[in-house]
Amino acid sequence: MASAAESLTDIQKQIFTKITNNEVSELKTLLAANKIKMDFVDENGMSPLQHACYKGNKEIVQMLLDQGADVNACQHEHAYTPLHLAALSGNAELCHLLMSHGARLTATNDVGRTPAQMAAFVGNHNCVATINNFIPKADIDYYVKPQGLQTESMLPPHLADSFHKFIMQVNVHPVRVAINLQRCPGLLENAVKVQKVLESMRNKEMTRGTETNEVMAFKYHYLSCVVAEVIKFQKQQKAMKAEKSDTIEGLMKKFLKCSKSDGIPEYQEAFLRESVREFPYRESTLFRQMVATLAASDPPSAVSVVSAAINGQRAFSDNAQVCVTCGEDKANKKCSKCKAVQYCDRECQRLHWFMHKKACTRLGQTNTPSAKISEADKE
Ligand SMILES: [Zn+2]
Ligand SMILES: [Zn+2]
Repeated sequence: MASAAESLTDIQKQIFTKITNNEVSELKTLLAANKIKMDFVDENGMSPLQHACYKGNKEIVQMLLDQGADVNACQHEHAYTPLHLAALSGNAELCHLLMSHGARLTATNDVGRTPAQMAAFVGNHNCVATINNFIPKADIDYYVKPQGLQTESMLPPHLADSFHKFIMQVNVHPVRVAINLQRCPGLLENAVKVQKVLESMRNKEMTRGTETNEVMAFKYHYLSCVVAEVIKFQKQQKAMKAEKSDTIEGLMKKFLKCSKSDGIPEYQEAFLRESVREFPYRESTLFRQMVATLAASDPPSAVSVVSAAINGQRAFSDNAQVCVTCGEDKANKKCSKCKAVQYCDRECQRLHWFMHKKACTRLGQTNTPSAKISEADKE
C-alpha cells in the first residue's frame, strides 16, 4: 500500500502547508474554491484538524469544523485526538470549542492519558481547568423542560445558554461570579430559579453512584451559595429602598473590603468559609480536605482553597498577572497612576478604586510620581 502522504493530492498537501504556516486567509480562499472532505491524513495519521489543533489555531479549527471535519476522528499513530493536541497547545478557548462540538473528554492516547491529563502533564493549567469545568449542554436540558407533574420548567428555556455559560466559568472568585451573573442576560432577574437549579444539580451529581463527581457537586453548591448571597443582598436593597436596587455592585464591594492591615477581605473570607461548611456531603474527601486546610494554623485564603478544590492544585502560581479585584489570570491592565496593581479591565479597576485609592498615592510615590492620573481617578 502506498503511504498516506504519497497518495495525497496537491490540494491536500497545500492544506497541510497552510495550516502548518498558520496562513488563515490563504487557507480560507483555498477551502472556498474547492469542495474537499476533511478526512484525509498525512504520513503520521494526522488530519488537517489535528494539525490545526497542534498549532493551537482556533480560527483555522473553526474553519475546518465548518467544513465538516470530525472532531473525534483519530488515526494518529499515538492516538492523540484533536482535543489531546489542543490541550497540549495550551489554548483553552480552542479546547472549549472542540468540546462544544462534542469532543470526547475520556479518549486516551497510547500511554493511557486523557486530554486533561496531558494538559496537566505539560503544565497547561488553563486547559486542565477548562476541560474539567466543561458541562455538556444535555446536562441542563432536564431543567428547561417541565418534568413529571411540573407545569413549568425549573429554568425558563430562554436562559439555557446564559446559564450554561455561567456554570462553566473557571474563575470562581466570588466577585467574578457576581460579575458574570450580572453579565449573563436574564440570570440576575431569575436568581431564585437559578439558585434552585444549582442546588438540584449539586444533589444530582452526588447521587450518580460510581459516576459521582464531588468536585462538580461542590462547584454547583458553591455557585448556589453566591447566588443565595446575591438574593439576600437584593432583598436588603429593596427593604432599604436603595436607589440602584437593580445592581449588585454593593455586594461586590462588600466582598472586596478589607479593613485590617493583614489584607484579608473579612466579609469575603467569612462568606467563603461558611459556603464550605454548608456543603451537605460531609463524608466526601473534598469536604474533609477543605475543612482541614482551613482549620490549619496560618491557613491560605479561603478563595484559594475553594478555587483549588474546584480547579485542582496548581503546580506553580504566577501571581504577577492576577486581577486584584476578581482573581482573573492574565490581567494586563495596570493602574496607570501607581503601576503597582493589575486589572482585567476598567470595570474591575472601578470596582476596586474605593479600596485602592489610599494605597495608590503611597505606591505611586515609590514608582512614577509624574504618571498620568488614572482613569478611575477622574470619575
Ligand atoms: Zn478582574
Ligand atoms: Zn494605583
